[in-house]
Amino acid sequence: MVQKITRKKISVYLTLPVIADVAVNLFVFHPTVNPFVFLLFLLFNSIIAVYLFNDFSQKESLVNSRIENTKEQINIISAENSKAEEFGAALRFRITRYNNLKKVIEELNKSLRLDLIVKVLSSTVYTLISNSCGTTLFYLLDSRTQKLSLIYSIKENPQMVIFSKEGDIFDYWVLRHSRELLIEDLKNDFRFDLDTLRSQEMRPVLSLISSPLISHHSLLGLLRLDSDKRGSFNQDDLRFLSLVSGLGAVALENSLLFQKTQDLAIHDDLTGLYTKQYFIGRLKDEAKRCLRLDQRIAVMMIDIDFFKQYNDKFGHTAGDIVLKKVSSLLKESLNPLSPLLCRFGGEEFLIMLPETGKERALEVAEELRRNIESEKVMLRRQNTSVTVSIGLACLPLDTKDDDELVQKADKSMYQAKRKGRNRVCYI
Ligand code: GH3
Ligand code: MG
Ligand code: MG
Repeated sequence: MVQKITRKKISVYLTLPVIADVAVNLFVFHPTVNPFVFLLFLLFNSIIAVYLFNDFSQKESLVNSRIENTKEQINIISAENSKAEEFGAALRFRITRYNNLKKVIEELNKSLRLDLIVKVLSSTVYTLISNSCGTTLFYLLDSRTQKLSLIYSIKENPQMVIFSKEGDIFDYWVLRHSRELLIEDLKNDFRFDLDTLRSQEMRPVLSLISSPLISHHSLLGLLRLDSDKRGSFNQDDLRFLSLVSGLGAVALENSLLFQKTQDLAIHDDLTGLYTKQYFIGRLKDEAKRCLRLDQRIAVMMIDIDFFKQYNDKFGHTAGDIVLKKVSSLLKESLNPLSPLLCRFGGEEFLIMLPETGKERALEVAEELRRNIESEKVMLRRQNTSVTVSIGLACLPLDTKDDDELVQKADKSMYQAKRKGRNRVCYI
């Protein structure tokens, strides 16, 4: 409005000298002109001039306001454009992520090996979500103890030590709630007690995302990404992590089931020791390896003495208890020697002791025999005891062939039986 009035004034100021100039010229060159007519002429012209300038000024301000409007619209469009560009970039980023999922599924389908599955899942989220920064942790849950254990990690800084091998307050939060966790800035997240965290973990963590690995309603583990910077993760990252975890959980479950089936196939039901078939295969490999590296192994064949009598006297179930008892005594006594133990047949056990020569094998066998003899076994409220006969053979001292090694240990065991049982023999 102020601008409009100023324009009007200016237009009058500009017009008046022109009219005055015309008037002066008229008087000078036409002095006979009637002054009244002349005044009328002046007035009329002034009104026209004012009207024209006023009209011009209105049109100008209209044009200016249109220019302003257009500028505003350009601004709005360019803001919308940059938003669309940002959205497009985010979309392209997402498409890249989701395209990679196809590769991840292919990788997961390739193998039932737990270590490979864990590696594929961890490296996928480390590169696609964390941009190869911060730390990625993979925990497995022991369904019996409900404890987590760290089985794989990727660290931006290889020197950094992860203290919470069994998980920290964040991991147990995920476990307890069975759902994803996003912490954008730990200092502003009041769900967690930072003092507790400080006492558990020395590593600086300011933001994290974590997702449980759930398959068929059972929680198998969790996949976590964390960073020492705040705001490293958002809802979109968490959604992607959750998706990868969902795929991973199925692969993980298949792998764990496969492992369990394999485990069952190579372990004896009653004693939990290896089966004869698995043992023979391992012995073959070990024998080859020892001969190549110039190392020794000893083999022990153990047979329970008069076992049939236990069955006859106390029943078959009691006989099973004796078998279990002897098996656990074998495991306990020989554990420091890292043995390979198998149930060779009904009441016979075959043991391989790595890096053991003849003298040492005789000592170990004698100690084992004594241990078993002195152990009391309660059967039908009666204190009984068991004895065993042990036969020994060594590689490469007695033979370089694994089959013959077992035969020789068996032969030695029969010698012990013949000599009266409850003894160790080495032919
Ligand atoms: P020896 O001192 O000569 O070895 O006599 P033994 O009685 O131990 O040997 P024998 O071969 O005559 O008997 C072995 C018995 O082991 C026969 C069988 O019923 C029993 N047996 C085999 N497998 C099992 C099992 O899984 N559970 C039970 N309870 N008994 C078994
Ligand atoms: Mg026997
Ligand atoms: Mg026997």
